[in-house]
This record gives sequence, structure tokens and C-alpha cells, in this order.
Amino acid sequence: MIELTRVTKRYGDKAVVDDLSLTVARGAFFVLVGPSGSGKSTTLKMINRLVGIDAGAIAVDGRNVRDMPAEALRRGMGYVIQSIGLFPHWTVADNIATVPRLLRWPEARVRARVAELIALLQLDAAEVARKYPHELSGGQQQRIGVARALAADPGIVLMDEPFGALDPITRDALQGEIARIHAATEKTIVFVTHDMDEALRLGTEIAILDQGRLVQCGSPADILRSPANDFVRTFVGGAD
Ligand code: ATP
Ligand code: MG
Repeated sequence: MIELTRVTKRYGDKAVVDDLSLTVARGAFFVLVGPSGSGKSTTLKMINRLVGIDAGAIAVDGRNVRDMPAEALRRGMGYVIQSIGLFPHWTVADNIATVPRLLRWPEARVRARVAELIALLQLDAAEVARKYPHELSGGQQQRIGVARALAADPGIVLMDEPFGALDPITRDALQGEIARIHAATEKTIVFVTHDMDEALRLGTEIAILDQGRLVQCGSPADILRSPANDFVRTFVGGAD
């Protein structure tokens, strides 16, 4: 479980995350949705301590993240960053194997895990072994970013607009895959998007942010049935 209690983050005078409280249940597919600049990426980065907080507290499985060594915290969390961030000079297979190798898994186990992920994400084994990230399409790179985040089998996966900038067909396929992975593995996923359609399709719980503040949190059905205000109504209205 991940708990944010009255969390605030300021840059200069501006609270980019403002008194935010959220509870992400174990096994949830928790979607943070909101317009550009609403504080979604900052919230994810506070959870894995890439960004410090100015007020409030964040706890993971009952432990305040401030009291946990950052390495131990991040080892338990996969992270798909907004710009994918694959290492350009490493083959795709080596990219996927990053965290298991950092954890010094025996090489045979690393290879077996890469093979498993190739199957899970419907990748091409020969391409993965040989190719470098720039030789892949955007959709393939997104898949590799997801495979890399899942590689060491973390209990929590943070995903920052992992399917942004994809054509609708590839996006639809990847949404289906991540939903399948979530159902099969019961991981806790915190998924950021600015696309309400995507939030409604994937989320078991949706938190809507606007200018760093929580506007509404609930199941897709709650949000569709009783939008908290005009902002949510407009945001949901934009989805079809
Ligand atoms: P997007 O959908 O465009 O990715 P977002 O919801 O992820 O937006 P954040 O990246 O969390 O938004 O940014 C929230 C606000 O904080 C923005 O106004 C942004 O300019 C500001 N911000 C983020 N990082 C920094 C930083 N390192 N220094 C100063 N301001 C920052
Ligand atoms: Mg962002």
C-alpha cells in the first residue's frame, strides 16, 4: 500500500503538488490523471524519492519513504519514465536486464527473465538480442521501457505516460497488455496519463488532479456517475 498524507511540493513560490492525500491499495491499478502541469510526474517522483517533499508524508507498506534508503525503496519499484530513457549504447536485451544485473542476479537467471519478458510483451527475441533502442519504433521502445521496469519483478510499478505519443492501434494493444499483466501478477500499478479514456479503461481507482490539487478520487463508475465538479465533467466529457 502507498499512502500520501497532505503532501506538498513547491518550486519557488508555487505549490505544484498541494496538500495531496491519496491511498493506493495493494494490487490496485491506480491512475493519476490530469492536464499538463497538474503535478502527475512530480507525484510519481516523490513516491520513489527522486524528488523530495516540502510537507506531509509518504509511506510504502507502512514505512515512511524518508526513513528508507533510496536504493532499497527503488529496488521494490519499477519505474517507466515519461521519456522512456533507454540507454542508447546498450542493446535492447541489456536495457531490459539493467535492474537484475544491478541486483547481481546470476547471468543464467537474467537471461531466463529477459526471455520471459520477451514472451510477456510479445517482443521479437532476435531483435531484442541484436538491436539498439534507436533501431526500434516508438511503440517497440515503449514496450522495452515497460519490460525493463518489470524485470526484477517489483511489487510496485510506477508508469509515467508510458503510451503517450503512440498511434491509436499500438496504444490500444499496449493498454491490453498492461491490463493483462496487472490481472496476472496482481502488482500495484500507479499509472500517469492525461487521457481520460485511458484512465477509465485501465484504472480500478482514478485520482483526478488539477493544478496540484486532488479534485476527485474514485472508481471509474463513481467518476462517470457523479463527477465532483465542472472540471471533472468537462474532463470526462472529452473522453468517448
Ligand atoms: P505533463 O502532463 O505535461 O507531463 P505533469 O502533470 O506531469 O505534466 P509535472 O511535471 O509534475 O506535471 O509538473 C508540475 C508543475 O511543476 C509544472 O508547472 C512544472 O513546470 C513544475 N516543475 C516540475 N519540475 C520542476 C522543476 N524541477 N523545477 C521547477 N518547476 C518544476
Ligand atoms: Mg508529466
